[in-house]
Amino acid sequence: MRPLIAGNWKMNGLGADVARILGPLRDAAAGLACDLLVCPPATLLAAAARLAGSRVPVGAQDCHAAPAGPHTGDLAAPMLREAGATWVILGHSERRAEHGESDALVRAKAVAAAAAGLSPIVCVGETQAEREAGAHLEVVRRQVAGSLPDGFAGVVAYEPVWAIGTGRTPGVAEVAEMHAAIRAALQARLGPAAAAGLRILYGGSVKPENAASLLAVAEVGGALVGGASLDPSAFLAIARAAPALPNPAASR
Ligand code: PEP
Repeated sequence: MRPLIAGNWKMNGLGADVARILGPLRDAAAGLACDLLVCPPATLLAAAARLAGSRVPVGAQDCHAAPAGPHTGDLAAPMLREAGATWVILGHSERRAEHGESDALVRAKAVAAAAAGLSPIVCVGETQAEREAGAHLEVVRRQVAGSLPDGFAGVVAYEPVWAIGTGRTPGVAEVAEMHAAIRAALQARLGPAAAAGLRILYGGSVKPENAASLLAVAEVGGALVGGASLDPSAFLAIARAAPALPNPAASR
């Protein structure tokens, strides 16, 4: 399995941005040693999927846990799949914080996503206060145990909340410690065979300048990129920094 470099546009992007950002990615994708994924706002999913075809898969940034129903303003996984998404980000810390999403809700959404044919990227990560209290490993272990359904076959993204959009990143030793803990938590939750096939991404202020060192850490199977994914040159520079098969996680 190749490293995955996923872009999370968050609540950014209008129609003109699809070609501006996705065009260069589509043209470069075949020459890369990693897989690309772009997660634009839901309004742009269909246009993005049309433009990128199969060369750059597109993903949504959230889905509802129900397949349909009276949930004004929400989007169900089958709708996103029909719009062209093949992936969906779930449990991003911005949704956990701004929308009060619990591990149990994220787990229910992951079930709904898989039922609709979407591969989930489940985000976990500690706050600054939790890290300062020395509780970061325990917090993330609990999120992994609580957010992943039985038979989970997606991707886990470790995103320390304090590193998102701040320009700060953990040191490589801290990333290695956390990714090893997540691998062990996946083994405990899903069993060794299922856990071995899952990529664990790092996310939080990944830029062209720090991508090579972060992506070379053991058990880092790619990156979830926010701000830098809005600049196609920066996003491609990060993708080119992904080593072919640098570590066990990327080769699983
Ligand atoms: C994110 O929000 O998923 C993220 C990683 O953001 P940024 O790269 O901007 O820190």
